[in-house]
Amino acid sequence: MLVRLDDHASGARVATDLVNTAPEVMVSTGDLIADPDALARFLAAHDLAPPTPPTDRDVTAVQALRTVLRSLVDDPATVADGANELVARCGTGPALVRHDGRWQWSARSRPGAGIADELALLTGTGMLGVLRTLGPDRFRRCAAPTCAGAFVDTSRAGRRRYCEPDVCGNRVNVANHRARRRAGGDAV
Ligand SMILES: [Zn+2]
Repeated sequence: MLVRLDDHASGARVATDLVNTAPEVMVSTGDLIADPDALARFLAAHDLAPPTPPTDRDVTAVQALRTVLRSLVDDPATVADGANELVARCGTGPALVRHDGRWQWSARSRPGAGIADELALLTGTGMLGVLRTLGPDRFRRCAAPTCAGAFVDTSRAGRRRYCEPDVCGNRVNVANHRARRRAGGDAV
């Protein structure tokens, strides 16, 4: 896998989505990467083509990576060391590669890298790019009181509050709306 070092958003998005597949976050559905088929679906959803179909070992390794990524998001002071370690373990480079008509700094996964290694390189470089470009306050927990999710905010304004804005943000809006209606009803 070739990872462009100036594209931190792609790796950050995969890191966020991976963290939020954990059973602690997906309380109602359970682990979203529980078996090789589920891992294959996760990869396909992110346009990542594994060199070989995922195995149980890949699942275990990706779950372990997910735990590491979650600990980094939860403690942004550890992102530099933690993500540097992931990249050093799984990647080689930098390499200057011609892409879309211009030269771009890139990193490659090591020969024979497994799926978890490729994901580690992608998410590690993404998180380092966010830390460097946007700063440590872009690593956050979901603001929905009933959600244990977390995310890396790569939005321009940097005001993202929810791991899944469409889900957690809506849920909070609905709850607030009901609370206001209740408060309004009490007042009458
Ligand atoms: Zn959430």
